[in-house]
Amino acid sequence: MDDFKLYIGGKFVEGARSIDVINPATGQAFARCPVADEAQLDEAVAAARSAFPAWSALSQDDRAAMLMRIADAMQEQAGEFSRLLTNEQGKPLEQAGMEIMGAAFTLKAFAGMRTQPRILKDDGKARISEIRRPLGVVAAICPWNFPVMMLANKIGPALVTGNTVVLKPAPTTPLTALKFAEVCAGVLPAGVVNVICDDNDLGAALTAHPDVDKIAFTGSTATGRKVMEAAAASIKRVTLELGGNDAAIVLDDADPVATARKVFQGAMANAGQVCIAIKRAYVADAIYDAFCDELARLANAAVVDDGTKQGTQMGPVQNKAQFEKLKRLLDESRDEGTVIAGGAAIEREGYFIQPTVIRDVGDDARIVQEEQFGPVLPVLRYADIEDVLARSNDTRFGLGGSVWGGDVERAASIAERVESGTVWVNQHLALNPKVPFRGAKESGLGTELGEEGLNEYTQAKIINVAL
Ligand code: NAD
Repeated sequence: MDDFKLYIGGKFVEGARSIDVINPATGQAFARCPVADEAQLDEAVAAARSAFPAWSALSQDDRAAMLMRIADAMQEQAGEFSRLLTNEQGKPLEQAGMEIMGAAFTLKAFAGMRTQPRILKDDGKARISEIRRPLGVVAAICPWNFPVMMLANKIGPALVTGNTVVLKPAPTTPLTALKFAEVCAGVLPAGVVNVICDDNDLGAALTAHPDVDKIAFTGSTATGRKVMEAAAASIKRVTLELGGNDAAIVLDDADPVATARKVFQGAMANAGQVCIAIKRAYVADAIYDAFCDELARLANAAVVDDGTKQGTQMGPVQNKAQFEKLKRLLDESRDEGTVIAGGAAIEREGYFIQPTVIRDVGDDARIVQEEQFGPVLPVLRYADIEDVLARSNDTRFGLGGSVWGGDVERAASIAERVESGTVWVNQHLALNPKVPFRGAKESGLGTELGEEGLNEYTQAKIINVAL
């Protein structure tokens, strides 16, 4: 077993104690992870605070150059990162490699971005400009579905704008974050990035910490609510990327087979554990049967296995709690519609769920109303556009969504009426670090990625000069 350590103030240190890290493909521990106590959390925040003046005084170009070196090192070590990611998270090795390369790409994209001053008025009487300054110490809190991608989305903009960071991964996927700390140690001054792990018990203290200036959080809506409450005491800046229940609306002029293939991918990628996975499909009457048949064929043909095995298309779900939650949901949903593929856990060690498709489900079924966060797709039928928009928008979530059809302009005009932060047409899951990403309704607050996402790591300041 590798020896993993917390990274605080430029030093690798033992945790106050340690916990098992489980490989979800076996259900067995394969490593130990150090976890911090509150005193170490305080040390990490203090280290970030004391690194802030010198780091924020560097030019954006100097900071960007270091970010580039971190990204280069991740690319060079992509093999090691990927194996660790597959072991702790479960996703197939090739997809783990894509996550690592995607994270490095994101860091490089942020290294290429700059906050820009704006002149608001310059008329001989006054010169009013707006500049942006870093906020200070950022607490970056990540979930377990894309542990490396999520940290890159936060570390990239935080560092290039001049903030320092305390990063806390999810307790079931901590090791890639600790490996990321090793990369940072070779590049950054002490204290600029600190990585502490917990046993799901330090989030409250970190988000309420008086010396933390901003919280960049990705996780569930339930936890996001707690983060917002904790931030209130000192009016911390918060970015919340939360849960979703994305609907795919498949129009009557869509090719049922070709579209089913893409919708399947949008629903089942990462074993369905994607905030922006398709979690409900609404399919026009005219093509409903053909569409369902193709989905069932794909689900039955999918190779679900240990992510380290060649040919595996889908790994296990990431942790036991999620596995148990999905099993309960499937048990409950069996009578809510017709199960045409899967419908249960796979009888073997580890946390494997059969890719599941359920057709003729009612709107009120829990499997439709809630974010399943697993390889499960309910398919609903509709006859009328107004009806399907009303039904699919009737949710407290609003992260992503997609509309699929042969007439792209018709699909795009329907997309404008979907109540979510991103709506794709004839695709799903397409993200780009230069394009803002945000949730509507209870799916989030603020923006991650893009220029707006970058700006959220800064305080805008007006300089108003009388001439
Ligand atoms: P979670 O909310 O349980 O945990 C997320 C993180 O918050 C973990 O690091 C956890 O330790 C920490 N945490 C726990 N209690 C906390 C507290 N009181 N204060 C602060 N932090 C605390 O989420 P999860 O189960 O790890 O991830 C799955 C969820 O994340 C899903 O709902 C998914 O949709 C969502 N997600 C959203 C996005 C997005 O960009 N919108 C991306 C990925 C995942």
